[in-house]
Amino acid sequence: NFSLKQLQQIDAAHHLHPFTDHKELRGAGSRIITHAKGPFIYDSEGAEILDGMAGLWCVNVGYGRDELADAAYAQMKELPYYNSFFKCSTPTPVLLSKRLAEIAPKGVSQVFYGSSGSEANDTALRLVRHFWTLEGKPEKNRIISRKNAYHGSTVAGTSLGGMEGMHSQLGGPVPNIVHVMMPYAYELALPGESDHDFGIRAAKAVEDAIIEAGAENVAAFIGEPIMGAGGVKIPPASYWPEVQRICRKHDVLLMLDEVITGYGRTGEWFAADYYGIQPDTITTAKALTSGYQPLSALLVGDRIATTLVEKGGEFYHGYTYSGHPVACAVALANLDIIAKEGLVERVKNETGPYFAKALQEQIAGHDLVGEVRSIGLMGAIEIVRDKATKERFSPAGSAAVTVRDHAIAHGMMLRATGDTMILSPPLIWTRDTIDMCCERIGKALDLAKDDLRKA
Ligand code: PMP
Repeated sequence: NFSLKQLQQIDAAHHLHPFTDHKELRGAGSRIITHAKGPFIYDSEGAEILDGMAGLWCVNVGYGRDELADAAYAQMKELPYYNSFFKCSTPTPVLLSKRLAEIAPKGVSQVFYGSSGSEANDTALRLVRHFWTLEGKPEKNRIISRKNAYHGSTVAGTSLGGMEGMHSQLGGPVPNIVHVMMPYAYELALPGESDHDFGIRAAKAVEDAIIEAGAENVAAFIGEPIMGAGGVKIPPASYWPEVQRICRKHDVLLMLDEVITGYGRTGEWFAADYYGIQPDTITTAKALTSGYQPLSALLVGDRIATTLVEKGGEFYHGYTYSGHPVACAVALANLDIIAKEGLVERVKNETGPYFAKALQEQIAGHDLVGEVRSIGLMGAIEIVRDKATKERFSPAGSAAVTVRDHAIAHGMMLRATGDTMILSPPLIWTRDTIDMCCERIGKALDLAKDDLRKA
């Protein structure tokens, strides 16, 4: 038995963390989260923290759900593992596939499993190229993505993503992936440009890239319906329908990465339905099990699936844990909870609108806030030095880190991404939790303002 202090010391000495400055970590070690209940996490200092990021990480139905622990336990006792290779399967991935086909957008009815969002995007990349090869067009292999996109941390995920820091570790993305502008009106809209026009212009960047490469060389366009890790960038309503129109016009497949938006976040089961589009692939993970088990599901549209079946031949790709029976059992129980508690409808009709209103009324007026925006239970707060000119503090990102640190110290977990604070709460939040969140962020903004004045 180790004390929490000892755990922190061991952590600092031996545990390499993702996305972490290890020089900084070496000193104190990390905050160790010891347990969690409902919307709260509890840390090594005994603090109770409202988890505003549970939904970016994935815990949409909240912590401490016995139904999910019981589903895992029962499945582990019955059959802990068998593979789904070579014409084998186990019951739970089969049943989950049926359930996913029922809730997925129209025309998307097949599933390929993995353990993480990164793996699922790896699969998606190979699958669309495999598709075009089967169609006799192997040269149609380029992928168009967006700057600042996040599609995971494998080599393929990093390459599909548009974060330059991650590319530099690879010596650049893998070949044949190009990145176009993101639909981020707050920074990229022209003076006087309407939201609608900006959305059309951002979509046009996709078409320009297709034309530049030659449509005969372009396999697909990939995008998060709402960029998550890149700062909760909510596109204008005109963007996705126009992107879909452009993809169809040039016979380019449309791949959506719904690792964050999938399973209810926008108030629809999938953001594809929110925007009324029909993608060829949808990457999902995290929220599929509310994080209680590692599981991803790449949902595959009928066009690709039909070609796979009709042309046959092996899809030479798969993971040991594709269709893991325990993970799939937990996913089934998780989807049951979401349906039974009406969480998707609740986001659409109640908590989503209330969250938007609370951010506007309680946060938007603060001196440090340039803009708040939200969709369903996903929100962003832009931190600025000057509201009117949108001037930022320097160095870039430093003010957001100050706000974040004050927020955590006041019991509110949220994330700083560049100069943007992002929120992705679990779907179980109520009006009271939303008020608590805004109150704590308001306090953090006040304290940060004092610090930044002094600096
Ligand atoms: N795609 C998106 C949109 C994500 O937000 C993430 C994770 N933040 C991933 C892919 C990668 O998922 P994982 O970390 O499970 O590999």
